[in-house]
Amino acid sequence: MSSRANSAPHSLCARARSTTIPRLSVPTLLFLTPGKVARVDLFEYQGKQLFARYGIPVSPGAPVDTVPEAVEVADRIGYPVVIKAQVQVGGRGKAGGIKLANTADEVREHANAILGMDIKGHTVEVVWIEKASDIEEEYYASFTLDRAAKLHLGMLSAQGGVEIEQVAEENPDAIARIHIDPVDGLSEDVCRAWVEAARLNPKATDGAVEILLALYRCYTEGDADLTEINPLILTPDGRVHALDAKVTLDDNAVFRHPDYVEYDATQVRDAREQFAHQRGLQYVGLDGFVGVIANGAGLAMSTVDIVNQVGGSPANFLDIGGGANADVMAGALEVIISDENVRSIFINIFGGITKGEEVANGIVQALERVKIDAPIVIRLDGTNADEGRAILEPHLSDRLQLEPTMLEAARRSVEMAGGDAAESTRNEVAK
Ligand code: GDP
Ligand code: MN
Repeated sequence: MSSRANSAPHSLCARARSTTIPRLSVPTLLFLTPGKVARVDLFEYQGKQLFARYGIPVSPGAPVDTVPEAVEVADRIGYPVVIKAQVQVGGRGKAGGIKLANTADEVREHANAILGMDIKGHTVEVVWIEKASDIEEEYYASFTLDRAAKLHLGMLSAQGGVEIEQVAEENPDAIARIHIDPVDGLSEDVCRAWVEAARLNPKATDGAVEILLALYRCYTEGDADLTEINPLILTPDGRVHALDAKVTLDDNAVFRHPDYVEYDATQVRDAREQFAHQRGLQYVGLDGFVGVIANGAGLAMSTVDIVNQVGGSPANFLDIGGGANADVMAGALEVIISDENVRSIFINIFGGITKGEEVANGIVQALERVKIDAPIVIRLDGTNADEGRAILEPHLSDRLQLEPTMLEAARRSVEMAGGDAAESTRNEVAK
């Protein structure tokens, strides 16, 4: 691996941001445990740079964001080179985002076409230029967490280079699976037996074992949720090599890896998530119309659930965490009203260490600072809730309402949004 690949210029990281991500559906959201909402997905070039640190062979290359830089890098690496669109979706090749170039003119032509290209809603702002490889065979390799089994799962297949979901569906026996107890780790013997079970070309066995052990180390020590190589290739001269990299890091472990901050800068978030992230708030955009603010991820999830249950549809999931002072509350309200689909706002606070009167003062002050058109419904319970409600009392109107329970507040917020909470209540009663 060349040292060039380890030096993505910072300005480029900041530019590698795109504005669209698929929104999480509510069922997806509910599978996430509290605090688990944020994941860090790496671009291929970042994944390869990480792989290189663990000794996984990757082609020398560099990320660039202009055509002249692309030519410069290609001249330096030597032809032929591959020009690869850096977007966090699969099937880039089919979309025209991966091209081989034999000359500087071809690099110019392809880099020009790929930079700015739209691939499945993602705009290409960075291309990765790497030395082209000769391919004899393409394999698939990955490690991920099997939550149901409470074990790590390794998958290896001699049928690589295509979507693994397709292999799993059409030819499940073509994937050799291995469960690894995190306490035991992956030994070389077990790894070798696994590689043999996958029936790769025998020429590839030693190289594959070495890469898989390194990939496992990258997965565990790097605190990843996923490390995937597709394709892992065998070259005609018998070397095994990672031609692609897909890595998802566990955001909860970032404190152990100060160098991961660079990935945070290039995280693909939608505009609302970016806005919230800058204010230190845990925010996930959803497709509905009731804005949800709650303290604690568990309560936020329950709030999302209950809004659905009374016939509404949440516009988001916003956890303001422990503190509910005016700054936090104003920030949360700003994030919520930046979503034009929001027709009402449900603030659901259960005071614990944060006392009811602090929350109430936070809300009152925030409302003086942020102009809100949507009606707001508040449920305030827990520590010093009565004191908090007394503070809110003089400010109540048909635009700012207080309800005694979470269920009543959910119904009220859906009604005020023009949704049919009354209808769903009747259905519940009829059941
Ligand atoms: P993805 O389709 O978005 O996952 O992109 P990949 O990085 O996996 O590349 C897709 C395909 O392009 C690979 O399966 C290869 O067939 C081909 N490809 C990528 N890099 C090279 C290369 O260096 N040489 C050759 N011959 N083909 C390549
Ligand atoms: Mn791939």
